Amino acid sequence: MMFLNLIVLVMGLQTIHYEELAKERTHKWKMNPGVTVCNNTGVKSYRLTHALKYWEKLGYKFDYIRYDDMISCGEPRFGEIIITLPDQKFDFSNHMASTRITISNKTKEIVKAKILIFPKTANKDRVLEHEIGHALGWPHINQPYHIMNSSWHTGGHNSRGLKLFYKNYID
Ligand SMILES: [Zn+2]
Repeated sequence: MMFLNLIVLVMGLQTIHYEELAKERTHKWKMNPGVTVCNNTGVKSYRLTHALKYWEKLGYKFDYIRYDDMISCGEPRFGEIIITLPDQKFDFSNHMASTRITISNKTKEIVKAKILIFPKTANKDRVLEHEIGHALGWPHINQPYHIMNSSWHTGGHNSRGLKLFYKNYID
């Protein structure tokens, strides 16, 4: 088993503004991740397509997109971003959604990511874009109107700086 030692990082989009959770972005994917949507999240296909296109324009590629009806849907495979319902233990009092990335201790690269999202915010503008940003390894960037702003209210569609660390990006 290659990935015995894994580190899990948790980030999310907050409805209120407070301290940044992740200040440095040091992790990225080696592969192009696939995306699985658990259907019970209520994420609409047009919303997902829109969110993925946002990142594709910045040079990212996704290996596949699939929708899963299984009740067991919830755990990402290696090489996968999964979009699933939150579990009981996570505090969602001031979060719209949250993302956990798993990093190989050996290579420091992201090997899987889990986006936790409620049906009530699943199709809200910018939320999925923001969480996919975390799934791709981006931390909060608290500039006004930035897609990675930690607060939804002061965020926007600005993508400034998001190309910098993508190693396969060709300008
Ligand atoms: Zn966030």
